[in-house]
Amino acid sequence: MAKVGGEVDAFCSKCQLLLAHTVIAMVGAVPVKVECNTCRTVHRFRGPSTATKSPAARKTRASPEAAFDELMATHTGAPRRYAPTELFAKDDVLDHPTFGRGVVSAVKAPGKVEVTFRTGLKTLVHGKH
Ligand SMILES: [Zn+2]
Repeated sequence: MAKVGGEVDAFCSKCQLLLAHTVIAMVGAVPVKVECNTCRTVHRFRGPSTATKSPAARKTRASPEAAFDELMATHTGAPRRYAPTELFAKDDVLDHPTFGRGVVSAVKAPGKVEVTFRTGLKTLVHGKH
């Protein structure tokens, strides 16, 4: 069990390695502040379990298809048939004759909307007279 002055394995943010650290401060049974035995940097304790959650791993994004399904799940309004003369607003759901179901993700002035389709983003004309 870890104790102040004792050694724990922790992820050193400077060395970018899991290394032996000396415990400087603890809250309950959990080390909160440690000193790296290798570079002598004092930093917050990051245990082996958190070391695997690198920023790169967290940035891994779901596939575009999954993201689209998620988007559709939150936009359950009745779809409107797309036509260049129709006027659309952000978050409108539409059916496009070529691209299929989509959600208006942004209104771009003048007379253009950005629509998210399963195949990706498309900029469409709207409100055309
Ligand atoms: Zn270090």
